[in-house]
Amino acid sequence: MNIIVKENKAEASKEAFQIFEKAIKAGEAKTLGLATGSTPTDLYKEFVNSDLDTSDIVSVNLDEYVGLAADDPNSYHFYMNDVLFSKKKFKESYLPDGLAKDADAECARYEQVLADHPIDIQVLGIGTNAHIGFNEPGTPFETPTHKVLLTDSTRESNKIYFEREEDVPTHAYSMGIKSIMGAKKIVLLAFGENKAQAIKDTVEGKVDESVPASVLQNHPDVTIIVDKAAASLL
Ligand code: PGA
Repeated sequence: MNIIVKENKAEASKEAFQIFEKAIKAGEAKTLGLATGSTPTDLYKEFVNSDLDTSDIVSVNLDEYVGLAADDPNSYHFYMNDVLFSKKKFKESYLPDGLAKDADAECARYEQVLADHPIDIQVLGIGTNAHIGFNEPGTPFETPTHKVLLTDSTRESNKIYFEREEDVPTHAYSMGIKSIMGAKKIVLLAFGENKAQAIKDTVEGKVDESVPASVLQNHPDVTIIVDKAAASLL
């Protein structure tokens, strides 16, 4: 794993953007795996403020809440439109359908999307419990896209975005760890002291399903870009 420590989120996001820009300009990245949450917001600003042409690029997102429509302000569809797709043209963009009637069929559909559009570079955030996507501790590393029961800690972290705690969805669709590991290149970002333990466990700990992101030690091309606070326990 290549670990890069930057002064702050803005600097780290610039560094991450350069990886995407270089690969896209070289024709080496046709499909990007994208993430939501507070972590990649500055990275998407870099895309928006650049003249990088993404009109031939396909994007595939990691996850979506079960039960939320694409136009629900708390859905990841809404987030992606808001921060990126409304401002930068992509060729095609895929996310799981939070309103899918049949969960198994939706997961199979998404695995087919990934088979049709293998991810060249995947951006990841990390949970305080070291989850990636919504793959919570204990998720088998061989898991493909699946419907996930969110842990209390994840619902707690995400409740700031919802008006009432009971509005936080209980389930999500998420690319599995196996789906994520299929990306050619992975760029994981983490900012703030509350991510420091997860980063330490990911980088220095044992590869174990209790620390989902530790699986990245087995991937041939991972770059972890963190601010000083998230690097403070390394
Ligand atoms: P955050 O979430 O970017 O909002 O911190 C990251 C994650 O839970 O994967």
